[in-house]
Amino acid sequence: MPNRQKLTYHTIFLGAPGSGKGTAASRLGAYLRIPHISTGDMLRESVASSTDLGTRVKAVMEQGLLVNDEIMRELVKDRLQRADCRKGFILDGFPRTIAQGKALDEILAESHKRLDFVFVMEIEENALVRRLSNRRICPQCGRVYNLIGLKPRQEGLCDDHPVALIQREDDREETIRKRMTVYRENTLPLIEYYRNRYLIVTVNSDATIDKTVEVVVNTVLERDSTLRKKEEEV
Ligand SMILES: [Zn+2]
Repeated sequence: MPNRQKLTYHTIFLGAPGSGKGTAASRLGAYLRIPHISTGDMLRESVASSTDLGTRVKAVMEQGLLVNDEIMRELVKDRLQRADCRKGFILDGFPRTIAQGKALDEILAESHKRLDFVFVMEIEENALVRRLSNRRICPQCGRVYNLIGLKPRQEGLCDDHPVALIQREDDREETIRKRMTVYRENTLPLIEYYRNRYLIVTVNSDATIDKTVEVVVNTVLERDSTLRKKEEEV
């Protein structure tokens, strides 16, 4: 068939911390062979490089400040211009706000691209609290336990040595609920922004991660097959 349209996979994942967003994004990236780009990795990589931008990022982070939208925009723009993003990319952690969403649209428009998928990982707050607040970790070896599903053999102790398990600050109920509030304030308007442009795919992430990934992959495959069919009809 001549002149087949090239399918692209310009993708972002939105979701509360603990919703399994990072794992789903990484698995979809591996499946499609496109880079999974998390904000954290991007920042770390930039600081490790000795570029101008990296030096600025480092200065901001050393002061304990958050990297502003302008710097984030430059980082994202640089990253998306690399050769491995030709077929697509999966952004995880950016955009988080409407302002960042608009910045991303501009970056893409500059290279005549547009978003293909916006996945929103939905999780019920109480389910998230239940999942995370039962997590315990060994401060010595980092092994992770869960008081519901993955209990240590002896209560409160790591299986590998007699070290008392701890709960991370991030896994405390109060911290989780606070983070959910921040997420809702920033990201719900962004979700509406994308909903108005018919880009949203909502994924229920109360299910297992395998099930979640299956839904995400099937969504992409369906889009591909719909586009191919349309081409054949022409
Ligand atoms: Zn241990």
